[in-house]
Amino acid sequence: MTVRPKKNLGQHFLTDKNIAKDIVALLKATDVSKVLEIGPGMGVLTNFLLENTHYQTSVIEIDHESVSYLHDHFPQLRDRIIEGDFLRMDLAAQISDTPFALIGNLPYNISSQIFFKVLENKELIPEIVCMLQKEVAKRIACGPGSKVYGILSVFLQAWYNIEYLIDVPPHVFDPPPQVQSAVIRLTANGRTELGCNEKLFFKVVKQAFNQRRKMLRNSIKGFSPRIEELDAVLLTRRPEQLSVEEFVDLTNNIERLMMTPNKIEE
Ligand code: SAM
Repeated sequence: MTVRPKKNLGQHFLTDKNIAKDIVALLKATDVSKVLEIGPGMGVLTNFLLENTHYQTSVIEIDHESVSYLHDHFPQLRDRIIEGDFLRMDLAAQISDTPFALIGNLPYNISSQIFFKVLENKELIPEIVCMLQKEVAKRIACGPGSKVYGILSVFLQAWYNIEYLIDVPPHVFDPPPQVQSAVIRLTANGRTELGCNEKLFFKVVKQAFNQRRKMLRNSIKGFSPRIEELDAVLLTRRPEQLSVEEFVDLTNNIERLMMTPNKIEE
């Protein structure tokens, strides 16, 4: 018996064992003793994860039918098969309050939400190896200057080094997805502080990219009536041209303006 693929859960099962093996081999898992796999499905990655004795593997799967399949085929996993929604998991309580690595062929429909959850738990997650839609993989991995550089690229690149590693064609999945896929690896860059107010950074980046074709002068003017006091060249730039460091500087400058809302008359 195999699991009947369910579209609403993003189930496209990887059928090529060599690719599965390659993906698992990309996980370095240095300095961690635990690995969590998101969405194991029928366990094509799990199989190789369990061969590794340096770390202990747990899996979180939302689909009851897949969970039954996993219990039948991987009895050694037992209570490390968690039935539930990764997005709602309390990672520290259910997996570990010390750092662990993440791996998965992600359900493509919720990959962005998965990364926002990762960001909320970044202190716990030093490494992620995952397969996802090629376009999203490119967006996350590309630096400033690229048309696909966006909110998630900035947020993730603030905390992780990101490597775009393997292209995977649709025909190695059952059923084949309508998009190309790719594997990326995110490794914590060692940063513990952003160097600015993190909440404001989040708002500034979001606001700037909400109007990504506009010059910063227009997209961020809502933060302060004194926006024009910022560097004139900077104000003519568009968000896709700014590196993480430049967004950090911009956030600090905006905060300064917000703290002294009235221009001091000379
Ligand atoms: N790892 C398997 C493979 O490579 O063949 C399956 C990958 S499939 C692209 C994505 C898997 O994620 C499915 O098994 C699906 O049921 C599961 N899934 C979808 N949403 C989930 C969620 N919110 N939490 C946990 N698992 C989820």
